[in-house]
Amino acid sequence: MEITKSSISTPAIKNNEKNHEEWNSRKSAELYGINYWGSQYFRINEQGHVEVTPAGLNGPALDLFHLVEDLKERGIRVPILLRFPDIVKSRVELLNGCFAKAIEENKYTAKFCGVYPIKVNQQRHLVEEIVEFGQNHAIGLEAGSKPELMICLAMMDTKGALIICNGFKDEDYIEMALISQKLGRNTLIVVDRYSELKTIIDAGKRLDIRPKIGFRTKLNTPSSGRWAETAGAKSKFGLTPSEIVRGVEYLRAENSLDCLELLHFHIGSQIPSIQSIKAAIKEGARVYTELYAMGAQLKYIDVGGGLGIDYDGSGKSDSSTNYSEQEYANDIVATLQSICDEKHVPHPNIVSESGRALVAHSSLLVFDVLGTNEVQIQVPQPPLEKDSRLVYDFWEIYRNVSRENINEYYNDLIEKRRDILQLFTYGVLSLDQRAKAEDLFWATATKMMSFAKNNKDAEDIYYALELELSDTYFCNFSVFQSLPDSWALNQVFPVIPIHRLNEKPDRRATLVDLTCDSDGHLSRFIDAESGGEQNYLEIHSLTPNQCYFLGVFISGAYQEILGDMHNLFGDTDTVHITLTDHGTYKVEHVVEGDSVRDVLAYVEYQKSELLELVRKSAEQGIAGGSISRSEARLLLELYEKGLNAYTYLRENI
Ligand SMILES: *Cc1c(COP(=O)(O)O)cnc(C)c1O
Repeated sequence: MEITKSSISTPAIKNNEKNHEEWNSRKSAELYGINYWGSQYFRINEQGHVEVTPAGLNGPALDLFHLVEDLKERGIRVPILLRFPDIVKSRVELLNGCFAKAIEENKYTAKFCGVYPIKVNQQRHLVEEIVEFGQNHAIGLEAGSKPELMICLAMMDTKGALIICNGFKDEDYIEMALISQKLGRNTLIVVDRYSELKTIIDAGKRLDIRPKIGFRTKLNTPSSGRWAETAGAKSKFGLTPSEIVRGVEYLRAENSLDCLELLHFHIGSQIPSIQSIKAAIKEGARVYTELYAMGAQLKYIDVGGGLGIDYDGSGKSDSSTNYSEQEYANDIVATLQSICDEKHVPHPNIVSESGRALVAHSSLLVFDVLGTNEVQIQVPQPPLEKDSRLVYDFWEIYRNVSRENINEYYNDLIEKRRDILQLFTYGVLSLDQRAKAEDLFWATATKMMSFAKNNKDAEDIYYALELELSDTYFCNFSVFQSLPDSWALNQVFPVIPIHRLNEKPDRRATLVDLTCDSDGHLSRFIDAESGGEQNYLEIHSLTPNQCYFLGVFISGAYQEILGDMHNLFGDTDTVHITLTDHGTYKVEHVVEGDSVRDVLAYVEYQKSELLELVRKSAEQGIAGGSISRSEARLLLELYEKGLNAYTYLRENI
């Protein structure tokens, strides 16, 4: 892929007069909506740089731009994944604080016991941090597979904290969970499919260990958000009402009904609406009280995950939430309380499996822009006599289009644009005439866009032109490796420059990544003004010989482990940064990203073999006289150096 850096600017979009208007950090904050999605952790400082404030806006602050410059001096390479354990700590405190408050205010008579579902981000340092920060609150861990359980068993030693076992289970998984009780672990095995129940009881007998069992119930209450289908009667996991009734009878017959300690449900991730959450809790609470009535004296209700993050600050989209963490806790506690009180059932301890809500804010990706393709708009010249009919047609549209006739002329414009290519391929239009026609197309589109702006009758046109007229910024990262949900689910993440925010952004762009995949781009951005989405990002022109850094925020949940090596772009360098009270910071861990050699080894190419093959070809070349000895040596040196290098591009500045 060729990357061009063109510096000629486009006078039409870049309204020069406006450009000189006063701009400052506050205006950038409004434009990018950082005060909404930044949730007290991110803001823009006077210098026009993004700052991170892990303990809230009154706590210590760190300038992200200076941090990235410092890290680069230490040899850490962009793209960099920055992790802030202090934010994890804040989130753990926040969630526990919200439940503690709700429990106290409602005089609820049982405890909150959070568990972190490690599938959300299994990185060791992060799991260690959660266990450490969660010690005072007895935060436990949730596993969804055997390998995850193995992590939980090794990492979890907080007294009283739970280990919840979900997911598909075989005998090995179940036996491991059972034996872990002998180590003093409070491990609960959740029956996700009915057939697991017998396997658990049999294994318990074999090992002579009383299992601690949970039932996962399917809920019929409709969910909301992107994962709405994961809940409901057809969901992959969970027992139907009839299986629950049968399960209780089976346990009673096995003299093991006292082993049933927990009722579990999970209605999907990133639930945007509190109404859905409340409705699900109601149904779950009723199942709980019914189990009690059947003689099962459970201790816990596990409300699963789903606590959402406000990725766009709108409060109304699927990437947002219409509730706060406190409202979430209040509604869960109050609903459980009223339903249990009504049926005279003791209040259950509340387990939640919030993953996204604990870790999403704690990482962000910083990458640099390598170059741009800017839409080039020439000042249009009237056609000459020898010019083609098509050029004349464009000129007519350009001259005559107005606010009133924009709909009619827009259709004309699009039709004529199609003609350009057709006439060119038929050999009727010369390259010179094609160039003229295209220049006029861009000029007309720009003029039309100014008429379509804020024009209710031309909203669609504005939307289409906006996309057409935005620049392309080539960025040093891979969507597939670092932001898979943006590709797979159209999830919107906040993306903004981390510096130059006291300059007015004078371009509109979509961002493309390094992969050769046409899906490798970011083209949905937060429109802070309307609370919706827009298909371009307001961004600055590149300054020659200066790096331009963009940050993708709130990317700590799910992205790292779902990321893949499309085009063999590997893991990025990752650093863990903690802040001190006096405005300095400490690099806790540096996790070096993949080298080319690492990613090649994943697909079974070993360094030594590759070098050997290239060396052989070089020897043949020397023998045949096509390459000199010194050229061959240079080739091998470059090849070996390349194998040890980062998979991303080196900054060209
Ligand atoms: C994925 C998952 C979670 C985590 O959900 P979040 O929305 O990230 O909090 C919790 N519980 C179960 C069973 C899950 O599968």
